[in-house]
Amino acid sequence: MMPRDLSAHEAYVPGRGTEEVARELGLDPDELTKLSSNENPHGPSPAAVAAVEDAAPDVNVYPKTSHTDLTERLAAKWDVSPEQVWVGPGADGALDYLSRAFLEPDDRVLVPTPGFAYYSMSARYHHGDAAEYAVSKDDDFAQTAAGVLDAYDDERIVYVTTPHNPTGSVMARDEIVELLESVEDRTLVVADEAYGEYSAEPSAVELLSEYDNLAVTRTFSKAYGLAGLRIGYAVVPEAWGDAYARVNTPFAANEIACRAALAALDDEKHVEESVETAAWAREYYRDELDARTWPSGGNFVLVEVGDGTAVAEAAQRRGVIVRDTSSFGLPECVRVSCGTREETRRAVEVLNDVVADVAAEGTRA
Ligand code: PMP
Repeated sequence: MMPRDLSAHEAYVPGRGTEEVARELGLDPDELTKLSSNENPHGPSPAAVAAVEDAAPDVNVYPKTSHTDLTERLAAKWDVSPEQVWVGPGADGALDYLSRAFLEPDDRVLVPTPGFAYYSMSARYHHGDAAEYAVSKDDDFAQTAAGVLDAYDDERIVYVTTPHNPTGSVMARDEIVELLESVEDRTLVVADEAYGEYSAEPSAVELLSEYDNLAVTRTFSKAYGLAGLRIGYAVVPEAWGDAYARVNTPFAANEIACRAALAALDDEKHVEESVETAAWAREYYRDELDARTWPSGGNFVLVEVGDGTAVAEAAQRRGVIVRDTSSFGLPECVRVSCGTREETRRAVEVLNDVVADVAAEGTRA
């Protein structure tokens, strides 16, 4: 007995965990600085940790109220109705719900390249396929409606990542409006704002009062520091009514995660501090790295290092884990997350050393 033919499905390869790398290098995990998955270096809000502890004794029962409470809280935050908030296990879960709601077999989605792998993976799980538009280094990874429309061929869903992973570029709201107005009636535009809190650009959620061909995804994994709890959401047009009730996996947004998310939303100071640290670190990377970088609206910076794999491996041996972006189609770069001030300074020191070493080795070879 075997599963159906899965050969067209790639496996998602996450950045490697600190324990795994520490074991391989024979180091204590505390000696490693992990800057490869755009996590929050401040950790979760203490209020969210307390909420997790409070929720723990009740996990013998199915989620009851928190799911609704979180939906209502997010609806109030974004000034939309609760039916418009689709909470799921991470933004990934919310993206899956959008695939379920929209894709018929053989439908195609349009995704950015380089870009976040899960959009096309989710389309394939739902018996669809993906085409690509370029976010091009030749244009400093600028994101414009024209750039998307150049490749657009009536796909059912068009994904925009803003700020974009792994380049950090942002699509201005006017460009999103132009895209919404230019696509065919059957096309949904999804603005993935997983890194939205770090960006000065206003959220596309505000456009939902005018456009019914838009959904916006957001997460608690980044600025809210709850990546391990898997909680995120989509905000969708009012006209979709009870579609969420028809497509969501029952109880997939679990009680502990929902309660922690509610507490995290109330701890605005924690989010502000996290965003401030990231803004400082982005500038520090851009000023201090002896390599080409690009402006970033996220909590990470893309760095051109020559041989991304060799630099990531050498940095790891020196205790700093960064993301080799070969799998994104940028083998000449690494992506480094914003750490605490201490972590960020250390990353700069190590990256500057290893970039020079790898370049010197390349010249010798
Ligand atoms: N979108 C983008 C662009 C991401 O980079 C990520 C996570 N790395 C996600 C969505 C998924 O986030 P979550 O942890 O909420 O599933």
